Amino acid sequence: MTAEPEPLRFDVVTLFAPMFEAVTGNGVSGRALARQLWQLHCWNPRDFAMDAYKTIDDRPYGGGPGMVMMAEPLREAILAAAAARRGQALPEAPVICLSPQGRAIDHAMIAGLVSSRGATLICGRYEGIDQRLLDRYVDEEWSLGDFVVSGGELPAMMIVDAAVRLLPGALNDSLSAQQDSFVDGLLDCPHYTRPPVFDGVEVPPVLLSGHHARIAAWRREQSLRVTARRRPDLIQRLRDGQQLSRQDLKILDESAPGKS
Ligand code: SAM
Repeated sequence: MTAEPEPLRFDVVTLFAPMFEAVTGNGVSGRALARQLWQLHCWNPRDFAMDAYKTIDDRPYGGGPGMVMMAEPLREAILAAAAARRGQALPEAPVICLSPQGRAIDHAMIAGLVSSRGATLICGRYEGIDQRLLDRYVDEEWSLGDFVVSGGELPAMMIVDAAVRLLPGALNDSLSAQQDSFVDGLLDCPHYTRPPVFDGVEVPPVLLSGHHARIAAWRREQSLRVTARRRPDLIQRLRDGQQLSRQDLKILDESAPGKS
């Protein structure tokens, strides 16, 4: 008998738990939740506030605009989430704070969350979070990109969605996630559906041939070409890691600028 895999569990420290209905109640992640492939637990810092007014933010020391999230309620929420994970006999998971100052999120980081069976995600608001909390209770800071959104909830939801779709059984066709961009280090190939002619443009004939090996070879070639054109950094990474076949290298050589 094979043991059931441990569930993927996300603990989210947020002032806006209802926003997460977007991932719990819709689409791939919503269906996967209904099938108990993953769990979401939201922790409201207000429930851990130190005063009767449930204060979770205060003015910044040194002056300046806006408010700063206080360290103590966040610490208590993080510790409560860790205790709840332990109560489920789940392995310790990283505490990740969403921040525009963090490491840019990529596929490998998301896949790592599936291995760690989830994470505790801290959603900042206002001007951000007291630095002492980040220094003492957060393992990593992750960023969506070089721009600022109003809170960590949208980035956290993206992380949750991206991780859940990697779970076996989350997608209708298990091959879908494996063929997505970045999984094998390349961008995805172009896709086509009916009608066979649109605005006078035909679907590439090989896709109508029914010849599986030729279709697979065409798709690989297209992936290589589109990645070389749009993301040469990804090709370089595969070259450095010696992850390209001789056939891949031949295609790249033939499609290099000036070699049409
Ligand atoms: N003052 C902060 C700064 O400039 O670095 C920005 C604070 S932002 C208005 C409030 C919260 O939104 C942040 O604490 C963070 O949790 C989240 N956030 C904003 N932009 C983000 C990004 N690009 N990636 C991840 N989280 C982000």
